[in-house]
Amino acid sequence: MKAVVIGGGVVGCSVVYHLARAGWTDIMLIERSELTSGSSWHAAGGFHTLNGDPNVAKLQAYTVQLYKELEEISGQSCSLHLTGGVMLADSPERMDFLRLAHAKGRYLGMDTELITPSEAKKMFPLMDEKHFVGAMWDPVEGHLDPSGTTHAYAKAAKKLGAEIVLRNPVKELTQDPDGTWNVVTEQGTVRAEHVVNCGGLWAREVGRMVGVELPVLAMEHMYLLTEPMPEVEAFNKETGREMIGVLDFKGEIYTRQERNGILLGTYEKACKPWSPVNTPWDFGHELLAPDLDRIAPSLEIGFQHFPGIANAGIKQVINGPFTFAPDGNPLVGPVQGLTNFWVACGVMAGFSQGGGVGLALSNWMVNGDPGFDVWGMDVARWGEWASLRYTNAKVRENYSRRFSIRFPNEELPAARPAQTTPLYDTMVANNAVMGDSWGLETPLWFAPKGTEPKDIVSFHRSNDFEHIGNEVRATRDRVGVTEIANFAKYEVSGPASEDFLNRLMTNRMPKNGRIVLTPMLNEFGRLIGDFTIAKTGDDTFMIWGSSAAQKYHMRWFEQHLPKDGSVRIHRFDQTLVGLSIAGPKSQALLAKLVDEDVSSKAFRFMDFREMAVGGAPCMVNRITYTGDLGYEIWMAPAYQRLVYKAIKDAGEEFGIVDFGMRALLSMRLEKNFPTWFRELRPIYGPFEGSMERFIKLEKNDFIGREAAAREHAEGPKLRRVSFYVDAQDADVMGDEPIWAKVGAKDFGTIEKPHGYGAPRFDETGKEVRGSDAATGASAVRGIVDGDWRVVGWVTSGGYAHYVEKSMAQGYVPAALAENEAEGLFEIEILGHRRPARINVEPPFDPSGDKMRG
Ligand SMILES: Cc1cc2nc3c(=O)[nH]c(=O)nc-3n(C[C@H](O)[C@H](O)[C@H](O)COP(=O)(O)OP(=O)(O)OC[C@H]3O[C@@H](n4cnc5c(N)ncnc54)[C@H](O)[C@@H]3O)c2cc1C
Repeated sequence: MKAVVIGGGVVGCSVVYHLARAGWTDIMLIERSELTSGSSWHAAGGFHTLNGDPNVAKLQAYTVQLYKELEEISGQSCSLHLTGGVMLADSPERMDFLRLAHAKGRYLGMDTELITPSEAKKMFPLMDEKHFVGAMWDPVEGHLDPSGTTHAYAKAAKKLGAEIVLRNPVKELTQDPDGTWNVVTEQGTVRAEHVVNCGGLWAREVGRMVGVELPVLAMEHMYLLTEPMPEVEAFNKETGREMIGVLDFKGEIYTRQERNGILLGTYEKACKPWSPVNTPWDFGHELLAPDLDRIAPSLEIGFQHFPGIANAGIKQVINGPFTFAPDGNPLVGPVQGLTNFWVACGVMAGFSQGGGVGLALSNWMVNGDPGFDVWGMDVARWGEWASLRYTNAKVRENYSRRFSIRFPNEELPAARPAQTTPLYDTMVANNAVMGDSWGLETPLWFAPKGTEPKDIVSFHRSNDFEHIGNEVRATRDRVGVTEIANFAKYEVSGPASEDFLNRLMTNRMPKNGRIVLTPMLNEFGRLIGDFTIAKTGDDTFMIWGSSAAQKYHMRWFEQHLPKDGSVRIHRFDQTLVGLSIAGPKSQALLAKLVDEDVSSKAFRFMDFREMAVGGAPCMVNRITYTGDLGYEIWMAPAYQRLVYKAIKDAGEEFGIVDFGMRALLSMRLEKNFPTWFRELRPIYGPFEGSMERFIKLEKNDFIGREAAAREHAEGPKLRRVSFYVDAQDADVMGDEPIWAKVGAKDFGTIEKPHGYGAPRFDETGKEVRGSDAATGASAVRGIVDGDWRVVGWVTSGGYAHYVEKSMAQGYVPAALAENEAEGLFEIEILGHRRPARINVEPPFDPSGDKMRG
């Protein structure tokens, strides 16, 4: 067999369908019982396209569009009801959140619309509008029949040649030395090249068959169905339409019409995990006992907000389990450390996401690449620290916050601290506000003595603003020290290590004792990494990269290691920690800590050296992400306190300060430096990412060279640029639309809206089709507004404290990338379009003289 898919829920059926559609026919889905025997059969069947991660949102939009095709191929109805839906805001903060979601949707081609509560009431008369300040309409929402849809995937897959085997539990998985999997089932053993775990409620157990503890946990979830309601029937009769879906953040409630009544579900605060350690194998088409007390607080609010529902009788309460990953997004992709073992699990919204998950995974298996930016769903985004207990705490937090606002400066507390460095207590004693960086506690900023080290969460500039500014100014004017233990660190060694890295990386490898910066590409010439590499010995290299991408990158490195053992790769994780010093006095400071010449002549910019710092054996890079004169100093954890104390003691005479990750990110902005996973992602080419300095097309045949050469020859379509933004009290956070005054010129980079508009009504309540009347709440609609057009999106930004400018980075059509004209761009921050101007040269140290020293 080419592949065996384990599990016949909506996700497994979608995966097997997509594999068949991609041309694999020798494939089999094996289901322990009947199709939908996990959580799929009792789902509420709702679907929508909105997601906090725009890349996941795109895959959700694909899922919804797929159902028609599926019905045609399978001949099986999915009972699709595309009703549209509204999200109701009860507070100004929630309205800001909706404005953000609405703005994000622009460049995805989503036709959401901000509307008033009374407009929402016209679409959903059961609500009392006095509880709300505004709403957002999303035309691509609705519901379907979960069982019909799952069967439609399976039937379509069968038609395309896949085999579906029912009532046959997979008991064991073993792998032969040649990599072939033995899928041991009750009915015998199937040999397969690839195995996919779509075990849903049992995904953990299937993972354990190959020694992997997947971070998934099932939660109990309840929804209720009312008796038929005369109000619903009357609405249907009068308007000829079904009632829309409604999401009420305050009540943590979603509702929609079900037959002649209403379905109402909650994401209650007092949530409850189900089978937290082992899922029983004998759990079948069963429901759990309802517990209305648990959801009573939500229902109480819901009945105030929707008095029409309060008076209806409850016909049935459904309580069923379904699974979540710690952040609520799916776990998809190949598992690092194993060959040809894939997962598609933790899918909490199988009917919104199942199609996209199937498409991405099948692309990945068949073509070696998911074809989209699936980082938000990649199983590699979790490290070893995402244990059973971590997952339990985080999933409960995520579930109970499902409808809560997550502010851009908000650090969530559950399961923390997970990992700490030896300096953790010192940093806390220094009044650090700590944040989570891939499971590691990392200082974000330092509160002065007498000030509480706590973030006031907000979409606007907050209480950290002044203090981050002070950290930046003190560092740029004197010297600062920060912890950088959260960076990823690897050592590559062995006789073929240089060849290996030359094959993987776009830049030439450095000489002994030197450092290079280099992107990494996939075969399609898309950016999949960005590293600092030092040659530390004849056959050894140190690599530093993004902390969050450690498993993602290890998976790629391992896939490309020569089979003959001529290259070894080691990920240090927290067995190597670091400190960085930066600022004009950092060289004088380092000189006090070492016994050798560290003048700019002897220890040049981009040099690497091993030396004792404060008496501790360290590796030192003459480079920092601040873009200032500075150093990264790496040591075993046992020495970190010694080195830190030495730095602080010796730095006293220079007025040294501690600075945190937020100051570091502010400083990189004024150097126009990109960040991995924001500016640099697998949807961009290296020239689009403005990384040309690090792409050496002529050096050798590195992975992605051909595609990169093509991009270079044809010219990139987009370019990463940096902006000054005339912001008020809120800076960009990422994903804001970039508008340009380009008249009728269409750069073709923005997808078109779906073409559904919010239904509008005249005074008598009759729907007015095709009306485009702008309400007060929806002054700006669509992606074209007079001479203005959305031409791109922000990747990240914030306030650049030293140069005192609000800055943003993002992608725009290449033809606009060097146009520094005033009045050409606007960036939409929290629903307000603010003037913006491209800055080609970084505002801080554009010549690099300070950095070189
Ligand atoms: C009350 C409730 C309401 C919901 N409402 C919605 C909603 O409105 N919209 C939405 O999108 N989602 C909703 N969901 C979530 C949705 O049900 C899930 O996202 C979806 O069912 C996940 O599908 P799956 O295929 O991953 O898992 P499952 O449905 O659990 O399927 C896994 C399958 O794998 C099989 N299996 C496991 N181990 C083995 C083995 N060893 N051998 C063979 N077979 C095996 C199981 O028998 C099962 O059939 C709801 C869930 C609940 C409980």
